Amino acid sequence: MKYLIQYVTLLFISTVFFQGCSQTHETEKKALFIILDGISADVLEMIHTPYLDEVIETGGYTRAYLGGEAGGYSESPTVSAVGYNHLLTGTWSNKHNVYDNEIEEPNYNYWNIFRLFETNHPEKTTAIYSSWLDNRTKLVGGGIAEAGDISIDIHFDGFEHDTLAFPHDDEGLYVQKIDQHVSEMADQSIREDGPDLSWVYLWYPDSAGHYYGDGDKYYESLRVADRQIGLIWEAVKYRENNYNEEWLFIVTTDHGRRLPDGRHHGGQTERERTIWLVTNENNTNLHFAASKPGIVDLYPTISRHLDLELPGQLGYELDGVPLTGDLSLSHPAADYDPETGEISVSWKAWHEDGEVSVKISRTNEFQEGREDNYELVKQVPLIATEAVIDVSDRPSDFYKIVMEGPHNSVNRWVIPE
Ligand SMILES: [Zn+2]
Repeated sequence: MKYLIQYVTLLFISTVFFQGCSQTHETEKKALFIILDGISADVLEMIHTPYLDEVIETGGYTRAYLGGEAGGYSESPTVSAVGYNHLLTGTWSNKHNVYDNEIEEPNYNYWNIFRLFETNHPEKTTAIYSSWLDNRTKLVGGGIAEAGDISIDIHFDGFEHDTLAFPHDDEGLYVQKIDQHVSEMADQSIREDGPDLSWVYLWYPDSAGHYYGDGDKYYESLRVADRQIGLIWEAVKYRENNYNEEWLFIVTTDHGRRLPDGRHHGGQTERERTIWLVTNENNTNLHFAASKPGIVDLYPTISRHLDLELPGQLGYELDGVPLTGDLSLSHPAADYDPETGEISVSWKAWHEDGEVSVKISRTNEFQEGREDNYELVKQVPLIATEAVIDVSDRPSDFYKIVMEGPHNSVNRWVIPE
């Protein structure tokens, strides 16, 4: 008993002390994501990657997908810049309008994660460490008025244009040297600057895949990339050990590779659509483990970790749902029946309580940078997982439907023939 009293007293003192500390030094939340270009899930699972394994032991691993809805309005090519922009905007190509690596007319009305972060926290630090310049200048749109005229505070990129430091060779090995340089710069900068939101992009494994196809040289490119990721992971651990910071660390890829030899990608085969997610986050929700998440789920996951507020109707447009914390619903579907003039909507429920508000807009003003007029047409229990909406008195060639739960919303477009 004596020990118990001593223990309780100690607990009380330490609790008071700890609360005092946490009030004066609140943990700073930071996020970093790495896109490793062109690594199929089956290859990652087969090859020994000790550094990624260490991250997985801290948090988790899951297979995931991209490409939007195959055969549906959101179908998106399994092409590099397209894949990055799904992550950056939390939407598929039908919204962000990037369908290839030319990035000719991205729709910046679907704010990327850097614009969202800068708008929430103009005083905080953003960083891009990248083997491809277009990531910052075209996709994130740094300095472009329509993209919000944001500037990335720290950037190490553009080395592919520095042919003196990185002379181009026929096999494309200079790309691996650039990746190494980018990783070393990221390592140093993260330790020194601890940027609040950063993106690391490593390119070479995709080049190896195109040159050699599935096989030893491609696998070796993954082992090298794993060591490069290890440098960055060590830097993040250094920050957490020496500063009061909590980092969300995510590694993913931008597409799989086509069978039989893995040399190509861009189509809708299962192996091209299948990607993977590695994270140090050990508090993922059931959607992470129990269903195959989409790359678009990373945007709401990062914004939730960083406590970002989504302005206006931006949240209604997101095609993903958070992989951490409370989740109300996912997997939205909507079917229009021309005979009855009804739209049947359905979803997967992750909670027993709460209601879903079904809202409809017959315009797509958001796409043009304006707000839509939503009409609340139904409120049903979340666990009903479906509802029928009569739109026979609201004829239109386009409906945008939002299903909004207590913790998140999902959406679908309906385009009657
Ligand atoms: Zn790629």
